[in-house]
Amino acid sequence: MDTSILSVTGRIFDIQRFSTHDGPGVRTIVFLKGCPLRCRWCCNPESQSYEIQQMKQKSSVKTVGKDISVGEVLEEILRDRPYYRRSGGGLTLSGGESLLQPDFAVALLTACHENGINTAMETTGFADPAVIERFIPHLDLFLMDIKHTNSRKHEEFTTKPNEKILANAQLIAEKAKKLIIRVPVIPGFNDTEQEIGDIAAFAASLPNVKEIHLLPYHRMGKDKYDGLNRPYLMGDVPPPSAEHMQRLLQVCEQHGLTTHLGG
Ligand code: SF4
Repeated sequence: MDTSILSVTGRIFDIQRFSTHDGPGVRTIVFLKGCPLRCRWCCNPESQSYEIQQMKQKSSVKTVGKDISVGEVLEEILRDRPYYRRSGGGLTLSGGESLLQPDFAVALLTACHENGINTAMETTGFADPAVIERFIPHLDLFLMDIKHTNSRKHEEFTTKPNEKILANAQLIAEKAKKLIIRVPVIPGFNDTEQEIGDIAAFAASLPNVKEIHLLPYHRMGKDKYDGLNRPYLMGDVPPPSAEHMQRLLQVCEQHGLTTHLGG
């Protein structure tokens, strides 16, 4: 292994071990700091700014974000190697958006592959295609959000239009080992059968894409907005019902896709 990649540093805000979401098997999730979008429903608002921040938590104050080397993160990841072997698990990059820290993220993915560890990444796909191309050889699985097919509505709720995202989905579908499309189902934004059907039709049109995951909106991040002194823009909007989610899964199945509820 080129050991110089171990000294590349990046900015993260959390590492979670023993996750059974966000990819196959038992996984370690590394959360990178900084995101180009500002989704109204984001449950990790502390991920959005690249800056290191202070976040109030009940009676204490937590520092969110730290700079760390690939070697240090790798050491943490390798602790659970026996679990990855038995379960087919590995590393998942999350955030935030790893595409904003390509040197660090690609070095970490490379180091994992060189140690025989499966790699996955949750992504918005919002980056220049040249950046995406750097990641493709080092990922076993892309978990990519498609939040809406209508660019105007996408921008209204996430602050960014979707043309670049849809084009990158095509690029990833053509070149990556595996791509699963994920859709956060957000009441008042994209939760009608028509809107989910449009996303499913787009996903089904991508080469090699066979699977779509629907992630129902939840309110678990609300307290973090208070801790960051930010307003919670979703107000009192309730999560979608189980029945409604079942109907939306059926809509996706009508497009020939395998469906999954949750991450
Ligand atoms: S893309 Fe994800 S991390 Fe970024 S603002 Fe949206 S929900 Fe939050």
